[in-house]
Amino acid sequence: MHSPRMEITRDGIPCALCHTVTTELVYLVLSAQSSFPQREVIKDRWCPAGCHQLQPARWKEAMPLLSGDDA
Ligand SMILES: [Zn+2]
Repeated sequence: MHSPRMEITRDGIPCALCHTVTTELVYLVLSAQSSFPQREVIKDRWCPAGCHQLQPARWKEAMPLLSGDDA
């Protein structure tokens, strides 16, 4: 039996380059017993100001995607 899961977008941490609040695409594994996600994985993150496109090398260095243990 699979746990229910879903993807959401939410406000993330501030952009390290311009301090705009970033948007995160988060994959949640939900629990049937609890309203709290069992696990969440940040699948992607981007800056509304476009830093991820304008300065991809700095973006990658400053805003690494974590492996998902940092819930
Ligand atoms: Zn930015």
